[in-house]
Amino acid sequence: MKYRVGIDLGGTNIAAGIVDESCGIVSKGSVPTNQKGSSEEIISDIVQLVLQLLEERDLTMDEVQSIGIGVPGTANKENGFIEYANNLPFSHVPFARLLEEKLHKKTFFDNDGNAAAWGEFIAGAGRGKDCDSLIAVTLGTGVGGGIIVNRSIYRGTNYSAAEFGHMVIDYKGIPCNCGRNGCYEVYASATALINQAREAMNRNKNSALWKLCGEDISQVDGKIIFKGVHLKDITARQVAKNYIDYLAVGITNMINLFQPDILCIGGGISAAGSLFLEPLKNAVFSQVYSCTSQKQTDLVIAELGNDAGIIGAAFLEC
Ligand SMILES: [Zn+2]
Repeated sequence: MKYRVGIDLGGTNIAAGIVDESCGIVSKGSVPTNQKGSSEEIISDIVQLVLQLLEERDLTMDEVQSIGIGVPGTANKENGFIEYANNLPFSHVPFARLLEEKLHKKTFFDNDGNAAAWGEFIAGAGRGKDCDSLIAVTLGTGVGGGIIVNRSIYRGTNYSAAEFGHMVIDYKGIPCNCGRNGCYEVYASATALINQAREAMNRNKNSALWKLCGEDISQVDGKIIFKGVHLKDITARQVAKNYIDYLAVGITNMINLFQPDILCIGGGISAAGSLFLEPLKNAVFSQVYSCTSQKQTDLVIAELGNDAGIIGAAFLEC
């Protein structure tokens, strides 16, 4: 059996996995990203991690078909350079080639959001479905994602498409660190939800959210907020409703632009399941453009969690 190696290079961690032909991860591990290190040092950490995973499974590089890596930046597939990476020393580094030279194996690379969307398409939310197009949205520190059209990753003319987080939803809104005002991620990321909850808690000292976070507001996260919703806490419910209204604006925009077969949402918040998904669906499908069409985008929770990036990267060749 041939295996593939998938690597998800993040700003905080490097995760890697050995993936079999049926998209199952047979072995995975991670190491912290050496944020202050040079690109050579980071590449060397990746090489060590991959060799260690192979050794743990008693595998050799001969049994590996190819390697793929998702990177947090613009992955120029024409020249093999990472052209722009937030917070990592990768500006104009021929990343795939350097990795290929060290591991002596054909190496493919792409943006991490694209790799995760590809993973969901082939092995997660899109698996076994009659599906040609999929949008994957990840709610984290920002709002990231990827677009699959006609069963291929859509990258745009300069490989930096699908920056959903920087779609403006209020041009007079809150400033974003990209330089524009009112970007989607300032309202709809997991970070935004937490900020909105903290503001509401400071206005409502009786909210059950205080107890749920042990009276320590720095401990508030998405899980706690939806626990509050489950307990019918009024503040938590208002926070969640307000957040889902913002989230729905961007999701509706994406559906209006692409009308994909599937739109899947990942990130920690999506663990709240139907408490989160049902109100979101109600908000989206009451305002989506073609709301009377018989066929609608299937709006679902992503299935692979953090593994999407590893599996998608492993199959970038395909
Ligand atoms: Zn922005």
